[in-house]
Amino acid sequence: DLSGKTAVITGSNSGIGLGIAKEMGKAGANLVLNSFTDTEEDHALAAELARSLGVDVRYIQADMSKADDCRRLVVAAGGCDILVNNAGIQHVAAIQDFPVDKWNAIIAINLSSAFHTTAAAVTGMRERGWGRIINIASAHGLTASPYKSAYVAAKHGIVGLTKTVALETATDPITANAICPGYVLTPIVEKQIPDTMKEYNMTREEVIQNVMLTRQPSKEFATTEQVGGTAVFLCSDAATQITGTTISVDGGWTAL
Ligand code: NAD
Repeated sequence: DLSGKTAVITGSNSGIGLGIAKEMGKAGANLVLNSFTDTEEDHALAAELARSLGVDVRYIQADMSKADDCRRLVVAAGGCDILVNNAGIQHVAAIQDFPVDKWNAIIAINLSSAFHTTAAAVTGMRERGWGRIINIASAHGLTASPYKSAYVAAKHGIVGLTKTVALETATDPITANAICPGYVLTPIVEKQIPDTMKEYNMTREEVIQNVMLTRQPSKEFATTEQVGGTAVFLCSDAATQITGTTISVDGGWTAL
């Protein structure tokens, strides 16, 4: 039961972050939703979740590519018991053509943001005597694919950051772990399907099975609810001695 705890989830107005927020809310946690936008829809989403889940939900705009915004998010949350570093972007290109601005943005959003939010959150967790840091890495935090140099580097980096933070908090009632999802059918993945269908002259089902899920032995997408449930598990008493490690939710990808 996470009642009375506040969960701050970066990049949570869609996809996996939103799925984690919903599962945390169902478990009773108050929520801070975040993205870099500040639209009516963002605030309406917070109001709708508050109504349907019966917990406090705030939306706080902060751009995870900016160090000051990352730290401001944690301060504005006014107590961060559960920190979920989820915001992430992708860009696919061969290394010799990889745009420098994309490299910098991916390292900033997918890796450095977690350094800044964790640095800002850990003292409060120690003071309140409880904390959970959950980093959303990827199967690409443990294995590589071509053309994803920045993403794979950032995701391997966040796994390393997770281990270091776990050692620094090992004697505190705080844990730090990374969840490594395989393919999850979020809007960002859904958007790639039509183009890939054209590119390979394939049906939607062929793209899903033969392109997207080739490395996922279960041949099924993981779901945002499953990633969210794993995050809630990491906040449970059963997970108290689980720290500094990774949990894969990838249908067997990393067993190959
Ligand atoms: P998504 O695009 O639906 O969600 C990304 C979220 O990050 C969105 O809410 C977006 O608004 C937010 N975001 C992007 N840039 C931001 C910024 N500068 N500041 C604040 N927020 C920002 O994608 P998703 O699939 O839900 O991805 C969420 C996380 O899960 C990412 O870290 C991604 O790498 C990871 N992941 C996704 C998959 C997958 O198959 N979908 C697999 C493994 C890991």
